[in-house]
Amino acid sequence: MSKESLVEGMSKKSFLGFVKSFNPHADLKKVEEAYDFAKEAHKDQKRMSGKDHFDHLLNTSYILIKLRLDTETICAALLHDTLEDTETKKETIKKKFGDEILSLIEGVTKIRKIRLETVEEDRAENIREVLLATIKDIRVILIKLADRLHNMRTLKYLDEKDRKSISQETLEIYVPIAYKLGMYKLKSELEDLSLRYLEPEIYQELKSRIAKKKEQRDKEIRSIIEKAKAVMVEKKLDCRIYGRAKNFYSIYKKMKKKSIPFEEVRDLYAIRIIAKTQDDCYRALGAIHAAWTPISTKFDDYISTPKPNLYQSLHTEVLIDKKPVEVQIRTWDMHHVAEEGIAAHWRYKDTERDKKFDRRISWLKQILEWKTSKSAREFVEDLKIDLFKDEIYVLTPKGDPIPLPEKATPIDFAYAVHTDIGNHCARAKVNNAIVPLDHELKSGDVCEVITLKNAAPSRNWLKITKTNIAKSKIRQKLGIVADSDVKKEEEEVKEDLTAKIEGVKASNVKMSKCCTPKYGESIIGYRMKDGKVAIHLSACPNLKDLEDTRKVKLLWKQKEKQDLVKIQVEIEDRIGLFADILNIFSAMRINVNSINTKNTKNKLYIVFEIEDRESLPKLIPQIKAVKNVIEVKTEQD
Ligand code: MN
Repeated sequence: MSKESLVEGMSKKSFLGFVKSFNPHADLKKVEEAYDFAKEAHKDQKRMSGKDHFDHLLNTSYILIKLRLDTETICAALLHDTLEDTETKKETIKKKFGDEILSLIEGVTKIRKIRLETVEEDRAENIREVLLATIKDIRVILIKLADRLHNMRTLKYLDEKDRKSISQETLEIYVPIAYKLGMYKLKSELEDLSLRYLEPEIYQELKSRIAKKKEQRDKEIRSIIEKAKAVMVEKKLDCRIYGRAKNFYSIYKKMKKKSIPFEEVRDLYAIRIIAKTQDDCYRALGAIHAAWTPISTKFDDYISTPKPNLYQSLHTEVLIDKKPVEVQIRTWDMHHVAEEGIAAHWRYKDTERDKKFDRRISWLKQILEWKTSKSAREFVEDLKIDLFKDEIYVLTPKGDPIPLPEKATPIDFAYAVHTDIGNHCARAKVNNAIVPLDHELKSGDVCEVITLKNAAPSRNWLKITKTNIAKSKIRQKLGIVADSDVKKEEEEVKEDLTAKIEGVKASNVKMSKCCTPKYGESIIGYRMKDGKVAIHLSACPNLKDLEDTRKVKLLWKQKEKQDLVKIQVEIEDRIGLFADILNIFSAMRINVNSINTKNTKNKLYIVFEIEDRESLPKLIPQIKAVKNVIEVKTEQD
């Protein structure tokens, strides 16, 4: 059975049986009424696939039924197109199904009957309306996501132009929303479907390559699982282990990011260990690390520091049978939250609609708060950017979480807490250690701002802050009015990359403003009429419209040889120590080449690359400050 026709030909009786099996508390009578009403209202309508429109409604509600959502959501999903596509009146829905269901349907319905100037504007307005309705009731976006998922599953029936633009919108708007809501399963399917229509050749190639080696890979995965199971049994850990297929899109993203062909994408082996308790997760991780060599830089502890979308798991990568294997370790609870995200929380709405639930949509509130006055098009353009920014949570010494954008600094934190604290911020401590004011904060950090009466903002602060609120307060305090003052300053700090391109004179090169390539990213040059070469990212969408004959392949000059530094860290082993140390390296953007213990329990040998020696005096004290680190020594390699 193909995915697009999961409930095709299903009788009403078995549909209701399905509802009951996923949600024993559902009001089946009401669901049946919605079923009958929708079937009648759409009776003459067909989809592009040739199927009845009702098939789309069944499938949309089926996606939500499987997420075990409530009666109102299921009914609204069945009825979600009645106001837009049939003669049904609002009053009729209200009388028959009540206010709650009506407002859910209205939330996903395009309010304007008159089409705006362009299809894009029309869609943009709809997205804004859906998000505004979502603030009032999160179930609106869940219905919209289910609707979109089924539309994506049946996208092949539309013409190419629509397939591409709908897929693009899915990837730019709905995928990041699903991610922010922690709905990984739905997100992965949307990603793969978008890829299928946006890059059909790549998608088909990935598909056939994966299929070709499937038998062998399945065999290898089975053997990896058996080995992991044996290790767990030996440690008396009761857990389930699965092989996990990586979705196509994540493979594609990796290929693109590293500009490598399929053959070189390594970690196609992935397993998931589901343990009974959180303690068991760490014990399982210890057992895995004891049995196989970890690939050092790949360790992540999302249990002690959950992602902003509340995702929790331990991630590591080890070599098993010389193959790099991605391992995720989590409890069943964490597993359900990871697969279903906010839907898992919604189920316990009355007893447990706690702070966590609100935290999941705080990003949306922030986005909507200051963007409602813009035009729909501008709103959606900004939304696309905001959706891709990850949030972090930094704690006050009292433990209150302050949401900030990625790479925010203690100054951003200070202004987020209070303007006065920002204006008098003198120094900052992160996790009890003094840090420079441009220190990059991470989720879970505890930040303490030390204020002094005579401390005041400097112009430099404008360069190191990441939030608009901090920047505007600083500007206010400094009396900078014109935006151009600041822009000029910001431009000055931008690195000049024109001299770093192989084979062309710096004076003949211009960095394009549309995609602003960074050093190391894959680039393409475009010969302009004045003889200069504009440098674009190879993935820059604007390249599509440019003449191929004027494009030139370019490479970056190799980096100068970097210093290899070796340090010896004396430790008293504890759970999480490894990760704490590696986090310091990644926060300072230092590449770790190797970590090993040379068979001693109390020493770590870390080799890493360093671009300028000046960061060393910053790094060492931070490692020393980690709990259970006794001494750090450097040695020259
Ligand atoms: Mn629909």
